[in-house]
Parts: sequence; C-alpha cells; structure tokens
Amino acid sequence: MPTQTQIGLMSHEELRSEHERQSAKYAQLKAEKLVLDLTRGKPAPEQLDLSAALLSLPGDGDYRDGNGTDCRNYGGLTGLPELRAIFGELLGIPTSNLLAGNNASLEIMHDLIVFSLLHGGVDSPRPWTQEPTVKFLCPSPGYDRHFAITESFGIEMVAIPMRHDGPDVDAIAHLVATDPQIKGMWAVPTYSNPTGAVFSEEVVRALASMPTAAPDFRLFWDNAYAVHPLADEFAPAYDILGIAAEAGNPNRPYVFASTSKITFAGAGVSFFGSSDANLAWYQSYVGKKSIGPDKVNQLRHLRFFGDADGVRAHMAKHREILAPKFALVLRILEDRLGASKVASWTEPKGGYFISLDVVEGTAKRVIGLAEDAGIALTAAGSAFPYGTDPEDKNIRLAPSFPSIEDLETAMDGVATCVLLAAAEQALD
Ligand code: PLP
Repeated sequence: MPTQTQIGLMSHEELRSEHERQSAKYAQLKAEKLVLDLTRGKPAPEQLDLSAALLSLPGDGDYRDGNGTDCRNYGGLTGLPELRAIFGELLGIPTSNLLAGNNASLEIMHDLIVFSLLHGGVDSPRPWTQEPTVKFLCPSPGYDRHFAITESFGIEMVAIPMRHDGPDVDAIAHLVATDPQIKGMWAVPTYSNPTGAVFSEEVVRALASMPTAAPDFRLFWDNAYAVHPLADEFAPAYDILGIAAEAGNPNRPYVFASTSKITFAGAGVSFFGSSDANLAWYQSYVGKKSIGPDKVNQLRHLRFFGDADGVRAHMAKHREILAPKFALVLRILEDRLGASKVASWTEPKGGYFISLDVVEGTAKRVIGLAEDAGIALTAAGSAFPYGTDPEDKNIRLAPSFPSIEDLETAMDGVATCVLLAAAEQALD
C-alpha cells in the first residue's frame, strides 16, 4: 500500500506507526530469503542471445576484410577500416580518426593514463609522474571504474556536480583555468552512468573550448552508451573532435566506445577516437604491447552488423528487452515512494542505470537492509570519487540483468528498505 503522507510532515505517533508498518513489511521480505542482484549493468542472457550468430561468424573460409587483409595474421594496429567506418558514422568521428581495438575500452583508458604518466602526452611539458600532483575532474555521481583507474595511480580526484544536461561547466571552467595540475576529466556524454544525463550541445562546446592552465588537459570522453536509447530516438552524436579542433584544442578529446553492451560484454570490440597526433602517439606505445588487435573478432562484428543501420536495428531489439524493465522500476519507485517524498530518481532516456537519491544519511543503511534481505545493490558511495558519497544518499540501480519477475520483487524490497530507513531516521 503506498504511503500517503510525506514522512517529513508526520507527527511522532504517525511516524511510529509508519515505522511499525515498514518493519513488518521488512520482516516479511527477509522471510522470503531472496537472492537477487541489482549491482552491475550487465546485459541479460536474452540480450546476449540477440548476438548468438556471432558465435558462428565469420564462418568457414571467411577471413579477409574488404581490403583483402587476412584477419588471421598479425598486424593492422588500427583495426579493420570497414568496422571503423560503421562506428565512425554512429559516433560522429571520421574513420581515419577512429581505431578499433580489443574487447575493452577500459583497457584503452587505462593505457592512456599509464602512457601519460610514464611518457607525457602530445602536449605535455613532461611526463605526468614528474608533476608535483596530477588531478582529474570527476563528474559525480559517475562511473566507479573510471574513478578506480585514477585512484589506483594516486591521481587526485575532484568531484564536480552532475546536472541533467551534463556536469557543472562553470565550476569546471573556473578550476581548469586556474590549476595547471588538472590534467583530465572523466565524461560519459550520452546516457551517463549512472544518472542517464545527456550532455547538451552548450555543455559539449564549453568543455571543448574552455581555456585550461594545463596545455595537455584531456577530456576522457567515454561514449559507452552512444547508441543505447530506451525510446525510438537516438541522442545526437556531437562531433566532439571537430568542435574541439575548431576551438583550437584539437588534441583535447580522447573518445571511447565499445560493443560491450551491443554484442557480448567482455567479447566485443572497443574503439578509440582522437586527433591524428594523439593516435600516432598512442600507437607508438600500444604497438610495443601488441602486434595488433583481434581482427577475427572485428571481422565477425563487421559481418554481423553489415552497416550502421545494422547496429541501429540491433539496438532496437535490445530496447524491446530493456525498456519494460526501466518502466517497471520507475513505476514501482513512483507507486511506493512518490507520495512519501523520501526519494527522488532519474528517468533516463537511455543507458543502463537509474540513479536513486534517498533521504540524506540513509543510503548505506538502505543498502545494508537490502543486503540482509538478500537483495544486492551497488555499494554505497561507489558512484563518487574514493567511494565516498558526502551526503550518503545516492544508490545506483541496474535493472538490466534480472528477469522482470525478479526485478519486481527486488525493487519492491528496495522501496521497503528506503521507507524503513527514512522512518528510522525521522524517529531518531
Ligand atoms: N564505460 C562506461 C561508462 C560503462 O558504464 C562501462 C560498463 O559498464 C564501460 C565503459 C565498460 O566498457 P568496456 O567493456 O568497453 O571496457
């Protein structure tokens, strides 16, 4: 039964009975001995099944791309041109400025940071390790694995508030203009992880053109969800490389994408787009690590998609599976939490996550209550640098992996935990 009164407006007596009601619901929940997992944005098995044909591609005797390259052999550091052309069209990047790599875009991001630390980038006065400190701006809530990379190298992370149209560019512009130690910024421009925000054109232009004290400041532009809308319309693919070049900052963006959430997560193809100078610099180091990427997997993907419309049609099938799950989560949040005003949440138009804000100071408690009831949620604070949510209120929900039935049970349980924690705190 939805709670009808705002918890903040309840008398002490009303609060006590609300607490009793939610405690009883929670006891029932625990008795169900659930084992449910909403932690990570993994594709569901039915989504992976959409790409089952990949398992028998490229097929017997098919091992040459359109240029006649034998994909079974060494070489081809840039990746297959035809596959780069398909994803170049989708990402708004010229084929010559987009490389196709191995199975993980995170690996490329990690490499770029390591190469910058050890060697310095194209515009670096010196390797980053020779700087007194290196700092990165981290729009938050953001992607925990981005923050884990910078944290692992001792790079100081500065949280920047995330808004519905991207990060707070005024705060960013001020910081980068005055602090030469700020060398980079993490950004997920389309259907951001976890809020679902899509950067507006103004935000994109401001980030590409703002003056920076560091000559080698880089935007780590992770377009992981570029083609992942939950409705018919795709988000615009801004030509970030062209916009930055026009503004006199051709080397500023490092653009990433992958087919992890298009075909097989963990067995897809990654992409890296940047200026000619940056790509030459990257290849001079990555060419020492590897003689070339897995071109057979790239050929498999090329055959599977055919062209950019093939990718778009494939994403429509993902959408049919994902959209009802997102709609279900939003309906439960509204039904169970809407009236009581103890939470707010994002309503993403794409991507893999919903960002839920509960009563300040209760996110850890909610996640703990859920865990004790067998519902695993992403760890509290994980969407913030150093795993610390200063307000202890954010919870990342990942609706993709569970079945609709499990998702309904899990979300109903989460709502009970949110209400119980809110009532506990109000009584305190
Ligand atoms: N970037 C973002 C924003 C993500 O959310 C994810 C996965 O959740 C990744 C990158 C992982 O990409 P990949 O599998 O290509 O390393």
